[in-house]
Amino acid sequence: MIMKPRKLPKELLLLRMLKPRMLFSEEHTLQYENMEKGYEGEVIFDSWLKNITFDSIILNDLLLKVNQSEFQIDSLLIYSKGIIIFEVKNYRGDFYIDQNGKWFTISNKDIQNPILQVQRAETLFKQLLRQYRSPHFQLKPFVIFTNQEFTLFQTPLNLPLILPNQINHFMYKLNNTSTSNLTQQYYDLANKLLASHIEKSPYSRLPKYEFDHLDKGVVCPQCQSFMSAQQHKFTCDSCGFIEPKSIGIIRSINEFQLLFPDKKIKSKDIYDWIGHVAGRKTIRQLLIKNCNRVGYGAGTFFVYEGTL
Ligand SMILES: [Zn+2]
Repeated sequence: MIMKPRKLPKELLLLRMLKPRMLFSEEHTLQYENMEKGYEGEVIFDSWLKNITFDSIILNDLLLKVNQSEFQIDSLLIYSKGIIIFEVKNYRGDFYIDQNGKWFTISNKDIQNPILQVQRAETLFKQLLRQYRSPHFQLKPFVIFTNQEFTLFQTPLNLPLILPNQINHFMYKLNNTSTSNLTQQYYDLANKLLASHIEKSPYSRLPKYEFDHLDKGVVCPQCQSFMSAQQHKFTCDSCGFIEPKSIGIIRSINEFQLLFPDKKIKSKDIYDWIGHVAGRKTIRQLLIKNCNRVGYGAGTFFVYEGTL
């Protein structure tokens, strides 16, 4: 069973909202692209994990801390034989490992060694198990590569790697290991881990942005281009997506609230936020119908309780 399902990281959601509205620096473009790529790989891996037929607990996206050191686990599988830590990589292209165990792209750019990364998580996880007084659980770390267009040359044997063409076989082997049903101690461990999970603010690593400097308009939910307005609908000239105006405006209200959690939602601001593509009266009616209204007169503001 999946006790902690994977959700679209809020930081990525916010970056997706900001991208059409501002120019990202090289650093933030890279951060955004890496997050998209990483999330895509994790979703692919989740669809593999769904094929598991034995009694198990899956915890995704854990951020844990032990002795002042934080570490992240993409997927954790708890089953009667022990615990598997999966570090999921969605690398694309050709890579190689040199004689000293260093990792490079084929054009000789060195990259972080993902094995060291998963081994660090393993070491810290062991310390955490000792803290929980559960040191008897067997731990196995793996780096799993999900992209079919990933090739690793000169791969030494016996590294804890699962390459794209090995995932099928790995799952087959896992499903054919003799396992037994989980007892309460496994659930207790999973609950302890869930309670230790750290939720970080998604705003801390975002590029700096201000309302006045962001581009205004209604953004297409499919391709993130600005949409053009007709009388009752928005149309995307890039991908052809069409939607009723009310839906596009409500999505924009939600974006505004997520990007500016400290700002009160007022009809004037939403009117500006969507680039004046709908009348103030329409916006006000939509706010009254879809949000909780607080106060009256000039001080009126709204709270939207839906989510994207
Ligand atoms: Zn579009």
